[in-house]
Order: sequence, then C-alpha cells, then structure tokens
Amino acid sequence: MADVVIIGAGISGASSAYELAKAGLDVVLLDRFGPAAMASGWTLAGVRQSGRHPAELPLARAAVEIWSSLAEELDSPTYYRRGGNLRLARTPEEVPVIEAIVADQTAAGLDLRLLSSNRDIREIAPAIAEHVLTASFCPTDGSADPTSTVMGFVKAAERAGAKTRFGERVTDIEVENGRVVAVVTDKGRIATPRVVVAAGIFGNEVLKPLGITVPLQIPMVTVLRSVPIDAVLEQVIGVANADCAGRQEYNGRFRVTSGLQDWHGGLGERQTEAGPRPRVLPTGHSMAEVVALFGDVVPAFAAAQIEDYWAGLIDLTPDALPVIDGDVGIEGLVVTMGFSGHGFCLGPVTGRLVSDIVQGKPPRFAIEPFKYSRFHNSRAFTEGATLHG
Ligand SMILES: Cc1cc2nc3c(=O)[nH]c(=O)nc-3n(C[C@H](O)[C@H](O)[C@H](O)COP(=O)(O)OP(=O)(O)OC[C@H]3O[C@@H](n4cnc5c(N)ncnc54)[C@H](O)[C@@H]3O)c2cc1C
Repeated sequence: MADVVIIGAGISGASSAYELAKAGLDVVLLDRFGPAAMASGWTLAGVRQSGRHPAELPLARAAVEIWSSLAEELDSPTYYRRGGNLRLARTPEEVPVIEAIVADQTAAGLDLRLLSSNRDIREIAPAIAEHVLTASFCPTDGSADPTSTVMGFVKAAERAGAKTRFGERVTDIEVENGRVVAVVTDKGRIATPRVVVAAGIFGNEVLKPLGITVPLQIPMVTVLRSVPIDAVLEQVIGVANADCAGRQEYNGRFRVTSGLQDWHGGLGERQTEAGPRPRVLPTGHSMAEVVALFGDVVPAFAAAQIEDYWAGLIDLTPDALPVIDGDVGIEGLVVTMGFSGHGFCLGPVTGRLVSDIVQGKPPRFAIEPFKYSRFHNSRAFTEGATLHG
C-alpha cells in the first residue's frame, strides 16, 4: 500500500518523489531500469531560460532560482554552474534569427543580450571560432550534471521516507469505478489511490490501456563526449538553427549534441554495475556531422579525443510543450511527460507542480498550457523540438 506510486526515476519522477515524500506522503518510486537511465541521463543538461516558449518561461525562471541552492537542499552535488548560454549566428541569414530572439525575450523581461560582433563574443567566450558573427547571451543560464542531480533527488527522497524499487517495470495501472486502485509490475502489485506517470517516451505504454494517449513523435539526438581537457568553455552553446549544441562539463569533458534526427528504431541494452541500461546507438554519419558542426564553432572540441558516444530519444509533443496534468479523466492519475527536449532544466519545478497536483492544492504556476485536453481537438505536430542546451 502507498499513498502515491511514481512511475519513472528520471528527473521528473525523482523530483516528484522528493517533493511528495517531503510533504509527508508514503511514496513508492519505480523504474524499469534505474535513476537517469533514459532522457535524464542521455541529456545535454542545459539549464536554460533563453529561447523558451512563453508558457514555459515562468517555470524555467523559477527553476533557475531553485537550481542555485539545489545542491545544498539535496545535500548532494549537482555541479550546477551558471556560466551563461550563447546562441550563435554563423551566417548572415542566421543573424536576424538571433536578433528576433533577443528582442522578443527582453520584451518578456529576460536579461538576454545581443553580442553583435565576433570580438564581443570572444571577449566572453574565447573558445568560439573567429567566423561566428553574432550571439545572444543569457548570463543567468547554465548547466548541471544530470546523473548526479537525479541521484541527489533519489537519495533525498529516500531520506524523506520514499521507497525506491529499480529494475521493476510497471505493466498495468488498475482502475475501478473511474479511480486508480493499484499499480501492477513485473514483480507484484501495489495498492494505491494515486499514480504519477513520469515515464518519458514509454508513458503511453501504461496510459494507452486506460484510453489515454499523449501524441508523441520520438526523434533521436546523437551525443559525443570527449576526454577531459583544460577548461576552455564556461557557457552552454547553441546555434540559430539548432543543428548542434554543447558545453564543457565540470570535469573538463565536452558533451556535444546533434540536432533532431530520425530514430532508426533500435533500442538495445548494455550491462552496468547497477544492472541493464537502455542504449541507442548513433550512426557513424551522425557522429561525423556533430564533430563537423560543433567543431566549426568550438575548434577545441574537434581537436579533443572522443571517449564515449550514445544517442538520446526525445518525447516530442505536437506543440513541444509537456503534459503536466491531474485532470486526465481518471481520478488519482497524474501525467507528467512529453518534455520535448526541455525537461531537465524544469525538473525541480516539475516536482513541485506534481506535488501540488497530487495533494489537491492549487498549482503554484499556471498549468493550463500543459493540460492533456489541449490535444482533444488537434494532434497535428506544429512545432519541432529545438535543442539549445
Ligand atoms: C540528447 C538530449 C539532450 C537534451 N538536452 C536538454 C537540455 O540541454 N536541457 C533540458 O532542459 N533538457 C534537455 N533534454 C531533455 C531532458 O533531458 C528531458 O526532457 C528530461 O530528462 C525528461 O525527464 P523525465 O524524467 O520526464 O523522463 P526520463 O528521464 O526519460 O525518465 C523516464 C523514466 O521512466 C522509466 N520508465 C519508463 N517506462 C516505465 C515502466 N513501464 N515502468 C517503470 N519505469 C518506467 C524509464 O526507465 C526512465 O528512467 C535533452 C534530452 C536529450 C535526449
């Protein structure tokens, strides 16, 4: 028996478990693999407000505030660094794109500056190539270490009383008379009146039998990671058309991503000390493209030895906004998924919103844009996800 069962120990589920356990609920957090096994481990882990959809901007701004003291709160390192985010224009055609983002978002109250010459850019980030023309610069953006952060949430949730069960897959959510009564896994059954679906790209596997489907496309992103090199880059780097992004981690490794690619459908497993983990492999072509594109704007990356590579999958909704909703037609069921390539930064706020919804409190931020019901009339994909860190 549990007050609430959370399906998925990515950043969304782990932060929800932490918030709900802290609020005194009897929480069970389940993952078919383990913490940060999927998007929350595959991610670039930028913590970014700049370039956000207006509906997400208040959440991202609140998240950035939380990130600054999250490590102290969780009593665990997050390696959060507020080094800024630069979005680059490499060609004359890309310059107006950057100018428009700066105009729109300064009007929305964000401190986003236009660096209109290469000299201005390289004054802030000397690692940027000399042919880059213009950039937007948000000094309050940054990044964190994804696995450390998710583990921090999991451990803090456990200290607050949450039970965690990893390597256990939810196969069914039992509903009687329109209300949740239990979660069934490949290892047993847990009676509960509330369940939070934070299962990323697999969310629909447990929702579909209940007649609920969040419309998703699942593109792939190639990720390369270098060996540690001397610190040369403080900012997270994006580009106007989002065909690559990257940053240097706290440990000196570059972590660099492609733009969105078609997923070939392959999802294998690799063995780790903690048990099997899912693995998607990028193609040689996509890896070569990432080196060429990011190496073109940060030459130090192309010169570094590559230590690791993987691909990540994105739960992209038609409007590239998530579903965060407890009003999906079944009492006790809360859905938080479809983060469309932006959900790492939002993680600490997602947990607080889910906690509000599960406890029946008014959500502390407007969640109308994130309602499942917005897909009742149209499921057409109008927005592509864009990765800018
Ligand atoms: C390459 C890449 C780059 C990105 N860059 C950024 C970025 O710079 N900034 C940013 O903010 N966001 C970024 N994102 C997006 C961000 O990482 C995700 O939105 C976020 O991590 C989603 O977290 P989540 O907890 O919702 O889902 P996930 O992390 O995918 O977690 C879902 C969990 O559910 C578990 N699960 C699924 N089905 C079941 C089941 N039936 N039973 C039990 N467990 C189950 C899975 O094992 C998984 O651990 C990026 C994503 C990728 C892939």
